[in-house]
Amino acid sequence: MAEILTAATENISVELKPAKANPKPGKLFIGGEFVDALSGKTFETRNPATGEVIAEIAEAGAGDVDLAVRAAQKAFEEGSPWRKMNPRDRSRLLWKLSELIRANAEELSELETLDTGKPIFESSKFDIPLSAECFEYYAGWPTKIAGETIANTAGGDALVYTIREPIGVCGQIIPWNFPLQMLAWKVAPALACGNTIVLKPAEQTPLTALRFAELTLEAGLPPGVFNVVTDFGPTTGKAMVDHPGIDKIAFTGSVEVGKEIMRGAANTLKRVSLELGGKSPNIIFADADLETAAKFALGGIFFNQGEMCTAGSRIFVEEAGYDEFMSVLRGRAAKMIAGDPLHPKTRLGSLISQEHLDRVMNYVSIGKSEGASVAIGGERIGSKGFFMKPTVLEGVTNSMRVAQEEIFGPVASVIKFKEPEEGIREANNSQFGLAAAIWTRDIKKAHQMARRVKAGTVWINTISTTDNAVPFGGYKSSGFGRELGRAAIDLYTETKTVWVDLNG
Ligand code: NAP
Ligand code: MG
Repeated sequence: MAEILTAATENISVELKPAKANPKPGKLFIGGEFVDALSGKTFETRNPATGEVIAEIAEAGAGDVDLAVRAAQKAFEEGSPWRKMNPRDRSRLLWKLSELIRANAEELSELETLDTGKPIFESSKFDIPLSAECFEYYAGWPTKIAGETIANTAGGDALVYTIREPIGVCGQIIPWNFPLQMLAWKVAPALACGNTIVLKPAEQTPLTALRFAELTLEAGLPPGVFNVVTDFGPTTGKAMVDHPGIDKIAFTGSVEVGKEIMRGAANTLKRVSLELGGKSPNIIFADADLETAAKFALGGIFFNQGEMCTAGSRIFVEEAGYDEFMSVLRGRAAKMIAGDPLHPKTRLGSLISQEHLDRVMNYVSIGKSEGASVAIGGERIGSKGFFMKPTVLEGVTNSMRVAQEEIFGPVASVIKFKEPEEGIREANNSQFGLAAAIWTRDIKKAHQMARRVKAGTVWINTISTTDNAVPFGGYKSSGFGRELGRAAIDLYTETKTVWVDLNG
């Protein structure tokens, strides 16, 4: 990823092509049908790169959430094809969904790029294929979910075994940075386990979720198994958290909203899993392959315009390797320019909104006022869309706000350290613990440091890779619960113990 990112992006103008994709006017998707919101209200989703309205989206509310939950409950409790479906058939449905994502990949990539402002290169090479792969991966699971038989130590004779059962209705609330991929990470394992779903995409990026809803009809997913409510977090998202008919909330988003969800879910004791923010350290030791480390550091922070929860946004560099690392980083970052997200050569697209751009730019000012200097970038590009130069702040210390707070944009803070002990101590000095990267040629040091970093994922001599088979999630304020891999099967099942007395 990191290497491709630095491929020729020079000379791409910020001239923007008109939207080609023509999504249907948005409706809610409830009980297998596209319906208007009860209020009849709609809101607009825009292309952040141009400011143009792409489509009207139905504005749900608590009443619509209730209808969606009822549809999902009915499908879970009574749904004749779903409740008693042979796991083999559930596998086939998941596989069919992956095939349909692949068959419609071009359209889905374009929709994703229009709605988010991310480069079409990224949506077509990463977001959409990885979403299809996620459904493929979980298509293998329904036939392998099993309980165990346990030796009874209580005395007497008994047969004790466990069954893994679906939890019920899962409310899934996702952010705007990787819309279809975040949907896939949540929907695929939940379906594999036999749950039903009410999904709320982020208000800025509902288009691929609505298109996916159409694909569920084409795949033959029974009505009510998957429902989509489009709207805003404080209304519809909160109504989901409060609804007693939802058994579990799976959330990806900010720390603040994560805390609110946890508090809200306490009232009905819903199961909760949270994937929250990050301020991931990318630790470069002087004995690393510094050129490769610098190349990958760019991908680690500038992929998806830095709107990435795992962004390697705190780059710790050991003093002895500092000058060499920084000269490669500067040279390559200066070559990256932003451009029309629909242009296949663009590697840096538009940020999601004016509000977000203002927030990210404000962090550049904060960094300067704290004593950091702008080594590269630091400026907005043009006045159309929300493009920003890739930005590297130097002279940062770990206690500065630009090192402690999640910026969620193309801004890296570079922090110098004198020896490994200091590097690891400062890297751990953060409220977050989502991911970390370590660069060194010393294999022993790499593994020793990997043990000491407090993060859910530690990359050694690479950065930002994920795989559908590999668990993903955070330590500390980055949340809890692990998505992907076998771990997500635990997130979406209950364990039931069955105790059979065999005495006499
Ligand atoms: P956000 O503001 O927390 O929103 C995330 C989702 O929650 C959106 O669908 C939002 O709805 C909804 N929401 C907002 N307020 C709510 C409430 N009171 N009750 C229920 N739902 C509510 O986050 P964001 O700004 O969209 O996304 C960026 C954040 O996500 C960053 O912190 C990033 O690190 C994190 N993230 C984490 C991961 C991970 O896997 N750990 C992955 C990607 C992103 P509306 O926006 O429609 O109002
Ligand atoms: Mg949009």
